[in-house]
Amino acid sequence: MKQFAVELHSHTHHSDADFSVEELCQRAVDFGYEGLILTDHNTSSGYSELAELAKEAGIVTLGGIEWTTYYGHMLVHDADRLVDWRTATPHSIDKHMQEVKEANGLIGIAHPFAIGSPMCTGCHWTFDVKDWNKVNYIEIWNSTRPDEHFWSWEAYALWTRLLDDGYRISCSAGRDWHRMEGEGENPPITYVESSGEWNSENFRQSLEKGTFYISLGPGIRWYVEQGEKIFYMGDTIKPGLANITVEVLSTRIESLKKFGSIVKRVKIIHNNQIYFDEPIDNDLIPIPIDLVEGNLRIEFWGTIKQKEEELLLISNPIYIEK
Ligand SMILES: [Zn+2]
Ligand SMILES: [Zn+2]
Repeated sequence: MKQFAVELHSHTHHSDADFSVEELCQRAVDFGYEGLILTDHNTSSGYSELAELAKEAGIVTLGGIEWTTYYGHMLVHDADRLVDWRTATPHSIDKHMQEVKEANGLIGIAHPFAIGSPMCTGCHWTFDVKDWNKVNYIEIWNSTRPDEHFWSWEAYALWTRLLDDGYRISCSAGRDWHRMEGEGENPPITYVESSGEWNSENFRQSLEKGTFYISLGPGIRWYVEQGEKIFYMGDTIKPGLANITVEVLSTRIESLKKFGSIVKRVKIIHNNQIYFDEPIDNDLIPIPIDLVEGNLRIEFWGTIKQKEEELLLISNPIYIEK
């Protein structure tokens, strides 16, 4: 599996950001992104320009838009047509999500617990979702400094509750990139894993399946072996004995190194219970586990910005089914 740094949530002059499309693309190259999705508010008019520039720059992109309504913001990625958001009401959102699915779009709930009116009308998610199967991911880290925002934890709680209820749903991060942030503002980063060539088909497939993780700095390589087979995030494995291998990777993005993230503990979480919580130690690898139906995921905890006991990385799950 190869890993690619991507950003799933960005804006330009086509809505309310300070960037032209060209500036956004150049900033993305400078930062080290290998994938970028433009999600302007209620328009995808910047996409064709970005697609051309990204191709020249060697960045993989997908179409995108951020539905911006009074009841919440929703990222729609890689749909093959524009679906009308203007008639969405709190109780009709499932019908609208169904239309997005019919247009082959991926759905991400943006900043669900951000402060709404009067700070930011519509930023707080109040749509009444009845079928969470239609949601691909919940943006649990939004904007910069996600480690300092209480709403990150509310979104994390929603995501883990849905996992506990048996949904296949991923956590995502969105820089919600509007302008170059200040020196002290650390953005979260999303790493997509793919075994194939780095192109838009594989980018989409990894997002759809949940083959990605979010981080404030470090990387992870992890997989589960059962018999002769190897399983990665988003895969489905059978209950029973298996071995988990976890490796900590150093921070790849140069501008994130100054925030000083150091991984101190690895947590293996099986059905929302902590199965393993230890300092990373190569002698412990691989870690044996007896899996039951549900899900398995990893978190890294440690130091960042001289704060201890911080959540630094969250993997998406491997799912366990009979
Ligand atoms: Zn938004
Ligand atoms: Zn946004």
